Amino acid sequence: MDGKLAVIGLGSIGAMALWQASRLSDSVTGFEAHAPAHARSAVGGDTRLFRMIYRGNPDLYPILERSRTLWTELEAETGQNILTRCGGLSIGTKDGPYLTALLETTRTNGADHDILSRKDMAERYPQHNLRPDDIAVYDPHAGALRTDRAVTAAINAAQANGATIHTNTPIDSITETGDRALITSGDKTWTYENVIIASGGWSQRLMPDYLKAATATKRCFLTWFVARDASEFSPEKFPVFIRISGDRSMYGAPSIDGVTVKATLDGRGAPTPNADAVPRELSAAEILETTETVTEFFPGLFPNIVRSDAYPDLFTTDGNPLLGRCSENSRIYVATGFSGSGFKNATGYGEIAAHEALGKRTFHGLDFARPQRYKTV
Ligand SMILES: Cc1cc2nc3c(=O)[nH]c(=O)nc-3n(C[C@H](O)[C@H](O)[C@H](O)COP(=O)(O)OP(=O)(O)OC[C@H]3O[C@@H](n4cnc5c(N)ncnc54)[C@H](O)[C@@H]3O)c2cc1C
Repeated sequence: MDGKLAVIGLGSIGAMALWQASRLSDSVTGFEAHAPAHARSAVGGDTRLFRMIYRGNPDLYPILERSRTLWTELEAETGQNILTRCGGLSIGTKDGPYLTALLETTRTNGADHDILSRKDMAERYPQHNLRPDDIAVYDPHAGALRTDRAVTAAINAAQANGATIHTNTPIDSITETGDRALITSGDKTWTYENVIIASGGWSQRLMPDYLKAATATKRCFLTWFVARDASEFSPEKFPVFIRISGDRSMYGAPSIDGVTVKATLDGRGAPTPNADAVPRELSAAEILETTETVTEFFPGLFPNIVRSDAYPDLFTTDGNPLLGRCSENSRIYVATGFSGSGFKNATGYGEIAAHEALGKRTFHGLDFARPQRYKTV
């Protein structure tokens, strides 16, 4: 036996799972196909939004609260500044479907928030050119997560705790043999008590058929713009935002390099057959809609895309993650399928996966995320 736990994929969630597992056991190993935090994974693109205010599943809220605590712990343990606490804005049509659903989830969760009128917005955040019937909800705990820094910090912390790392080692197969799980990469073989699949957009290659059928790898792109006055888009003045105003939607983050501002069309994941060959160029239609939206929403940005890229993520059919063993007594645990919204919760998801895969603790209230929801027999 080579150890108690192998984590396959040291991207967003795998790195956090390894960090958490290294706090629980001195016998954990991480395998990464490339270099950890490489830019072709869902870690790419510098930042991800962290928000406590959202619309949708209230069962996610305890994980968000725990994740927020763990981001602070990771920063304290590694001395890295990972979460830029700049607040967040959810902008939309007053009484429209987006803000109505968002406020309902927010009130159910009891999340801190402030409602900002159009006038409040003009005074506090004039960068946003609102429509006449737009308002905003301010999230004081939101911010921008530095993705590459987060993943690197977690891996460094795991190594400091004694975890073993194999980089440039793509795992080809996982086989269960009663009391162990056997994994291979080329002609090499290892055996572990348990294995976590945290391979993001590549996970289908290692997952059982019933989960392949319930998932799809999708391409999500990002775009950046140059500000006419970069200081107006600094983290001190410009919170992360999501905006759905009528027919247009966009989300983004403040400038972290002092020059460019991330502003991207919201919710545009498109299926891609191969996570290794995600088309990086934007189509003419994507460019047109992006520049039209920036022209309307942000007069302070030059409406030309100065940087763009695209990355894979694994989406489930119901949009909820996959966290749990493949079957009741399986030694294979899946932590994937984060469906375009997993980074904010990466620390919380990593903690759940590490504890459960090592058999240390079972978390409750996670039926919505259990792989078994997709089992038909
Ligand atoms: C453009 C974009 C914008 C997003 N915006 C947000 C946001 O604002 N807020 C938010 O919370 N979330 C956001 N998300 C979602 C979030 O980034 C993802 O849900 C999350 O990062 C997925 O993490 P992961 O660990 O599953 O995958 P990844 O981070 O992609 O990690 C998978 C890792 O596994 C490795 N791997 C794959 N196969 C193997 C193998 N066989 N053997 C070994 N290693 C392997 C890969 O090389 C990679 O390093 C966004 C996603 C994208 C793509």
